[in-house]
Amino acid sequence: MYDNNNVFAKMIRGEIPTNKIYENEHAMSFYDINPMFETHALVIPKGPYQNILDFAKNAPANEQAEFWDCFAQTADKLGIKCEFNCLANAGADAPFVKQSVFHFHLHLVAGTKTSAFKNLIAEIEQ
Ligand code: AMP
Repeated sequence: MYDNNNVFAKMIRGEIPTNKIYENEHAMSFYDINPMFETHALVIPKGPYQNILDFAKNAPANEQAEFWDCFAQTADKLGIKCEFNCLANAGADAPFVKQSVFHFHLHLVAGTKTSAFKNLIAEIEQ
């Protein structure tokens, strides 16, 4: 079940500060607080969707369209054209990287790795 007190829900409600990149009616993007790469943005819908599958199955078409508009505008604002990765973690026991915030978010990363990324990989390989 979706938890209204997750950190991204608080950001959407304006209860905690957000380093925003782009926003439209149904989606927004901001810089990750603990970047794994030189450029690390998170793109989120404003609706209460727990993960990417919940969003794909249950968000109405206008919310899905605005999510992808936000994704494209964010990439443009960051100067990202064709060399990047996107990742959506789902579930506390996801096999690669575990989801820690249970509000759907797409990681958009580009550029060089940070020490946070190297630490994460070392942790996964343990
Ligand atoms: P995940 O493991 O896919 O759930 O990733 C959650 C991401 O949210 C992590 O990369 C965190 O660094 C990021 N994060 C958590 N709190 C904040 C915040 N207040 N502002 C920006 N990013 C955050």
